[in-house]
Amino acid sequence: MNTIIRTTDSENVNMEVVNEAGAVIKRGGLVAFPTETVYGLGADGMSGEASDKIYEAKGRPSDNPLILHISDLEMLDKIVCEVPPKAKILMDNFWPGPMTLIFNKKAEVPYKTTGGLDTVAVRFPSHKVAIEIIKAAGTPIAAPSANTSGRPSPTKAAHVIEDMDGRVDMIVDGGDVGIGIESTIIDVTGDIPMILRPGYITKAMVEDLVGEVLVDRVVVAKTIEEIGGEYKPKAPGMKYRHYAPKAELTMYEGPIENVIGVINKLAVETISQGKKVGIIATDETKDRYESGQVVSIGTRRDEASIARGLYGILRDFDTMDVDVIYSETFYDDDLGQAIMNRLIKAAGYRIESV
Ligand code: AMP
Ligand code: MG
Repeated sequence: MNTIIRTTDSENVNMEVVNEAGAVIKRGGLVAFPTETVYGLGADGMSGEASDKIYEAKGRPSDNPLILHISDLEMLDKIVCEVPPKAKILMDNFWPGPMTLIFNKKAEVPYKTTGGLDTVAVRFPSHKVAIEIIKAAGTPIAAPSANTSGRPSPTKAAHVIEDMDGRVDMIVDGGDVGIGIESTIIDVTGDIPMILRPGYITKAMVEDLVGEVLVDRVVVAKTIEEIGGEYKPKAPGMKYRHYAPKAELTMYEGPIENVIGVINKLAVETISQGKKVGIIATDETKDRYESGQVVSIGTRRDEASIARGLYGILRDFDTMDVDVIYSETFYDDDLGQAIMNRLIKAAGYRIESV
């Protein structure tokens, strides 16, 4: 397939590009486009056939449902049965924005889109290019992250081109994304909202508005044992290995002086075995590492910078062809919870206390 690549400014949106993208979606095709979280791979979410193409292009397991992206609340009425009061409060505060809510679905939403579930995930993005493309398509757009299944999510068009060139009809380059990790997913079908995937909207922010909030146990687990073999995550996607760089990634947790010491020692040993080593450091620590390809993920003073740098770094290490990656860990609260959740999965739960 010949993939059309078009560019637009993220603020001053080129409507010609948008209309072309909308037309591709309308006729059942695939368009990758930027959102404020990561790049999405979109198709008409009300067409099972179109949704099917997303699974195929990504190599995504068919039981991993898609998020429907809307550009106004009228679209929401067409796809969900009811909006519970707590959901309404969250929507009023965080939409448009990086929050996905799980509702009971209307019959019109195809099971192909929801992976066979009677619930549907919905997000109203704030990125202007995303909103305009949804409007132009005139239909909710099903859009998972625009990466090959299992690889780190794309935060710039070059990442999308790497994974999707020749597999999709169109890629809209709207520059680098602002947030860099996927939306917070909250199930609002029960009495107490439950966070199924952590993101930029934190548990504390949700609690401030609606009181008690549950967290699915896969979100906080640091070992596979903590999840338990039989346990099924409420967001089916959370059970798959994700965000994985090609090299083996191990994280080291403990006082930062210990972490730096251990990583420096391991790097020397590993390099002496003829292997190429990558190190995930921060602005505060990057000058303390003595060997290996040291990359700063961001500054510890601003967790948002770490979120923004995360997926790009994992992809950069693929390009550098490192064999092994050693990483520092980050605070496990607020946005740090989302960062650690992604990194632990990228590390395949290899995390060591030092
Ligand atoms: P991605 O689009 O790549 O960010 O992945 C979408 C995430 O949303 C996956 O983890 C899915 O399992 C989750 N998801 C989508 N629809 C539902 C749903 N109806 N119930 C629970 N989780 C969902
Ligand atoms: Mg994804």
